[in-house]
Amino acid sequence: MQTSSPAEATAASQLRERPAIPDRFKWNLSHIFPDWDAWQRTYEILDKKITEYAALEGTLALGPDKLLTALLLADEIGRLEYLVWYFATLKYDEDQRDNDINAKRQQVQILVAKGGQATAWFNPELLRIPLATVQQWMAENADLAVYRFAIEELYRQQEHVLDAKGEHLLSLASRFSTSPNESYAALSTADVKHPTIRLSTGADVTVTYGQYRAILATNRNQADRAAAFKALHGLFAGNINTYASLYNAVLQRDWFHAQARGYSSTLQAALHGNNIPEAVVTNLLETTKAGTGPLRRYHRLRKKVLGLDSYHVYDTTIPLVEFDRKYSYEDTLGWLPESFAVLGPDYTGYLNEAISGGWIDVYESPGKRSGAYSAPVYSVHPYMLLNHNDTLDAAFTLAHEMGHSMHTVLSHAHQPFVYAGYTIFVAEVPSTLAEALFLRHMLSRATDERERSGLLQHAIDGIVSTFYTQVMFADYELQAHRLVEEGKPVTAEALGEIYFGLLKAYHGDAYDYDDLGRATWARIPHFYSTPYYVYQYATCFASSAQLMKQITEGSPADRQDAIDRYLTLLKSGGSDHPMTQLQKAGVDLGKPETVRAVVDQLDALVTQLEKEIA
Ligand SMILES: [Zn+2]
Repeated sequence: MQTSSPAEATAASQLRERPAIPDRFKWNLSHIFPDWDAWQRTYEILDKKITEYAALEGTLALGPDKLLTALLLADEIGRLEYLVWYFATLKYDEDQRDNDINAKRQQVQILVAKGGQATAWFNPELLRIPLATVQQWMAENADLAVYRFAIEELYRQQEHVLDAKGEHLLSLASRFSTSPNESYAALSTADVKHPTIRLSTGADVTVTYGQYRAILATNRNQADRAAAFKALHGLFAGNINTYASLYNAVLQRDWFHAQARGYSSTLQAALHGNNIPEAVVTNLLETTKAGTGPLRRYHRLRKKVLGLDSYHVYDTTIPLVEFDRKYSYEDTLGWLPESFAVLGPDYTGYLNEAISGGWIDVYESPGKRSGAYSAPVYSVHPYMLLNHNDTLDAAFTLAHEMGHSMHTVLSHAHQPFVYAGYTIFVAEVPSTLAEALFLRHMLSRATDERERSGLLQHAIDGIVSTFYTQVMFADYELQAHRLVEEGKPVTAEALGEIYFGLLKAYHGDAYDYDDLGRATWARIPHFYSTPYYVYQYATCFASSAQLMKQITEGSPADRQDAIDRYLTLLKSGGSDHPMTQLQKAGVDLGKPETVRAVVDQLDALVTQLEKEIA
């Protein structure tokens, strides 16, 4: 996950053209293909293999050998798709103004869609064979047994699939189920008239979403921040009944699909895919709500340090200390081996390979894709895209993406293709753990108290935004969905009441409340686009906090055991249900202590910050 800070964007005039950037700061895509000719040849092989696959239709029932042939060919197609897709995509991200490369990228999309159609027969055909028969085949054939988890998953997912008539009806209904989200986007983006406010300096500012975040993060005048908050939330409050009606459509749609597929609740429907027990979510919500003490202490400290008489939601992101130290890419890279040394030679070996060259595209240049990511190119290595601008955020982004890449490389090295990818439910564990280890190292080497305060605040803000806020959002979604499940009316007032109640339950007397805060829920895009999604950021964060505790505290033998279990998790890719994978690593998300690890982590950081600031 990436947080955006528009105030830190590098001025376009300072940008170097890509050829002017030395090669050691660019990724080397010749590790995938030496040139476009080689790419084209593989593209054609892939096309041929897709045609071969289509010809296997109707053969599965003939026995284990035929099933294995289809599975192996599907893997080969998938592996080649990674290569041709990422070569074109990564090239495109170097300069998105290049139309020829964009055309090649779209060419791959068309071929991948063809691949999807050519393989669509497989699942229904396999599912017509009784599971017991397939299990018998796997017991007798070791090569086929590799696919056991994937095959059994397919049968498990089948439990909530309807007959052909029912599925057809649902597919017809799915054509309008994206409509509430599209209407939300139109109302809040395309049709929105952003208001203009006059700042205390006399300057007029149009309050777009980016400007709003920038004012809250950089403007030291509270009245300016208040004006921006009122202007932006006034937009939502002004259309609040329309937003409530759109959100009601989201809730009704989710409940319709859940009931149609035989789930007892919308939450159960949302969790079935990854086989997550509902107790994981209820434990997360309850334990977090009971652990808001350090959150409130942090906000009270902010109020005091900022010298404010009253403290509002729009006062929560302005930095406590002004601190403008630069973190160059090379310095940051140099700190990583020490930061991660505790994880042992298996991990740092791959890390040194990643650092030595060709994996990372460092600097911004005209046309380059914004943000940061780690791309898993199976059978080559991960590539990382950065837009490093020497800020503290950029330094942590490098640590974060490196965490993803080490997960990928360990998973690819130890898993067959079918399990090389991992779910979102575990994906943000290694990245946030890498950030925590990096923070620990940075705090140990910082001699300047301003830098230490800046580091602590960065870490605390990360916990507030990726944990507390996301859990509060998840709580809101669950309560809102329960309104429709219990047949209660969904009105702007009811939704505002849920949100306002949560805001107060989390922040108590640490906040002064504005009535406009009731409209905040209407602004959150995830509520409309991907219901029941954000809680996964929080469960990843809790898992990583618990692992961090186990890796860095206790006896040396216990710590070593924890490290071994953690590396096993990274090496396990997507070979099991995520809850089982985490349990093997020593993390039980059904238990309050796992969630309390985050509360304890925040408590320790706030205590440290209180000391530094005193
Ligand atoms: Zn991430």
